[in-house]
Amino acid sequence: MGRYPDAGRAVDTSVAIVGAGVAGLTIGRLLRTAGVDCVVLEAESREFIEQRPRAGFIEEWVVRALERHGLADGLLAHSKPQSECEFRLDGVRHVFRYAELSGQHHYVYPQQLLVTDLVRAYADDAGGCIRFGVTDVALHGLDTERPAVSYTAAETGERHVIRCDFVAGCDGARGVSRQAVPEDAMQVIRHDLGIAWMAILAQAPPSSAHAVFGLHRNGLGAFMHRSPEISRYYLEVPPGDSPDNWPHERVWRELRERLEVPDARPLVEGELLEKRVLDMHNYVVEPLSYGRLHLAGDSAHLLAPIGAKGMNSALHDAFLLTDALRAHYEHGDDSRLAGYSEDALRRIWQYQEFNQWLSEVMHGPSSDDPFRARVAAARLRRMVGSEISGTSLAGLYIGADADH
Ligand SMILES: Cc1cc2nc3c(=O)[nH]c(=O)nc-3n(C[C@H](O)[C@H](O)[C@H](O)COP(=O)(O)OP(=O)(O)OC[C@H]3O[C@@H](n4cnc5c(N)ncnc54)[C@H](O)[C@@H]3O)c2cc1C
Repeated sequence: MGRYPDAGRAVDTSVAIVGAGVAGLTIGRLLRTAGVDCVVLEAESREFIEQRPRAGFIEEWVVRALERHGLADGLLAHSKPQSECEFRLDGVRHVFRYAELSGQHHYVYPQQLLVTDLVRAYADDAGGCIRFGVTDVALHGLDTERPAVSYTAAETGERHVIRCDFVAGCDGARGVSRQAVPEDAMQVIRHDLGIAWMAILAQAPPSSAHAVFGLHRNGLGAFMHRSPEISRYYLEVPPGDSPDNWPHERVWRELRERLEVPDARPLVEGELLEKRVLDMHNYVVEPLSYGRLHLAGDSAHLLAPIGAKGMNSALHDAFLLTDALRAHYEHGDDSRLAGYSEDALRRIWQYQEFNQWLSEVMHGPSSDDPFRARVAAARLRRMVGSEISGTSLAGLYIGADADH
């Protein structure tokens, strides 16, 4: 971290936001609405981020929070509420009716559509500033009262400097914000699951009315909704496996093997649009703040996509951090900023714990360990068979009960 950036074209703002993902764009839009000046820096182009497919399941409390800020029109108009999911084990179907138990739903809305809505709300509707395609982003003077962010502009190749009061590090798992912090000031607590998932997008209508998880000795197979034409599938694969080892026929054969049961309708197959192998790991950065830098979203914590928590927790951070920054600007109250890390970490660790719990249900049957397989089956029976346990798990799955 340079103490002070080299000379360049300098502008002043209140908050410099690194990364135009769901976290950065939400913070930008909410600050802008509150009259707080900010600039968003994004490494990719607008077209790219508006088409990058990833998450799809949004927890109802997030939907309501976006709605309160006028950011849920597209989501509410086009999303599909989900109230249950299904686990299939040894040919038997177990339906987890989490909306009935928690009173809340998931809303299925592809992440790229939410990003598109947020870019429009921040840049087009509210006149917010985003610099796309920036390179060599560097953070400076984070432990001073006037930090800065420098970058190279896409159009001119010139070096620019943004002087600000605060930096919001929202640049995802591979960003630069976290790296700008001295090693002894933040620790990265990492947990490797020792497995990989191949994330697949298929040009195919939904195979089921709800998400389906096939718990199988070959590995997990999963189906999740995305849109009437596109479906998300996952296959557990060995770590380090390559998508090239998985041609069309092999993917569908294995999905059928892991997901199909006699009394459910067969999978609806289609062209494979994307295959990505995800090394399944989790991490949490502690604390989330260093000097005038506050991390939010995947730059602060990664949740393997087991419980569909990543985007939801990124938005939780975004709401918390915006409230804290507003308290600073509107009331001169810095207590919320001082408590931001602790407040955000509470939910993050509850989400990590739930992910870990669910991971064992999903991966125990393929672990080659009969003990883990039996524990997975016991957990599944409790989740769908016990109202007391089911209600508690439903609250965690839907994020309604996670601020402890
Ligand atoms: C296959 C898959 C499925 C998923 N499914 C779900 C789900 O169903 N539900 C759920 O809640 N979560 C899910 N997730 C997780 C979710 O996608 C992430 O948690 C979410 O994108 C985090 O948002 P973010 O804003 O923190 O980061 P990102 O969305 O990663 O945004 C960070 C931004 O910063 C930019 N950037 C990076 N480096 C720099 C730099 N140096 N300078 C400037 N900009 C930079 C990036 O281009 C990017 O636009 C899934 C993830 C994957 C991969």
